[in-house]
Amino acid sequence: VAGVCHTDVLAVRDARVTPLVLGHEGAGIVEAVGRDVGGLQEGTPVLLCWKAPCGRCRRCAVGEFEHCESPLDTEEPRVHRGGEFLPRLLNTGCFSDYVVVPAGAVVPVDANMDLEHAALVGCGVATGVGAVLKTARVEAGASVAVWGAGGVGLNVVTGAELAHASVIVAIDPSAERRELAVARGATHAVFPEEALDTIGKVSDGAGVDYAFEVVGRPDVMQQALLSLRRAGTLVLIGAAARDALMHFRPREFMSKQQRIVGCIYGSLRPQADLPLLLALVQQGRIPVSGLIGDRIQPDDLPVAFQGAFTTGVRTVVKFG
Ligand SMILES: [Zn+2]
Ligand SMILES: [Zn+2]
Repeated sequence: VAGVCHTDVLAVRDARVTPLVLGHEGAGIVEAVGRDVGGLQEGTPVLLCWKAPCGRCRRCAVGEFEHCESPLDTEEPRVHRGGEFLPRLLNTGCFSDYVVVPAGAVVPVDANMDLEHAALVGCGVATGVGAVLKTARVEAGASVAVWGAGGVGLNVVTGAELAHASVIVAIDPSAERRELAVARGATHAVFPEEALDTIGKVSDGAGVDYAFEVVGRPDVMQQALLSLRRAGTLVLIGAAARDALMHFRPREFMSKQQRIVGCIYGSLRPQADLPLLLALVQQGRIPVSGLIGDRIQPDDLPVAFQGAFTTGVRTVVKFG
């Protein structure tokens, strides 16, 4: 099972190499285990993690797996076509019947868990909830705004709810997504044009403690920065184009002692944190079923990439 994440679509725009096997949010059953792999059995359901730490770099050596300096170093030429090495998006490439990944790139899943749900934990849930709980470490009572209420943004809302944020403003042009945000605990859900007004009103003009940008557009990042209160933090989650530039007033930023933080994979330590997120999903504290829209076959993927499937937030592909 694989989810079609926005990053797959962006990879078509930003790919450094082609051909490239897409797909990075997935779950499946272990078919075979390598000779030197311990602790995994054939037949075990697992989710795929696209940011497996290398285990060898300086950051890994001190246990900061979330800051691994070379997570893609686990990439060996595992997939071939006509004798030639075929690269895969984010070391995964799960838009395929089988994937070959390092042991650190899978996390066992409870046998009772729906694999569709497990797949979504592997990217959307990990990134969104992790951004709040691990990257930003939002405190109880804090105010939060999130730009973009898709598969990751809605999980930022859920993360803020789990962190007991007092105000959660979700910003998205889609009415369907705004409704989903409210269902997940957003206290306000508004159009992008209304965002700064709304945030001003709910914060007595002070701004929010935390702003999350999940869109990947510099103009949206600038707006999110303007929404921050003194000592507020902007977390950048959305992937901008490689040559994109963001403009802001460093003097004001300095005076207000604000911060801008980058976030990849929710700053999670996969083997430690993903089992906790899976448990929260099973307890219903992280809702995932509402995220799933169309269920498609692999042959429908090119059509999905043209945006033909628009119900729900995530289109899910069933293999095998
Ligand atoms: Zn993704
Ligand atoms: Zn490392």
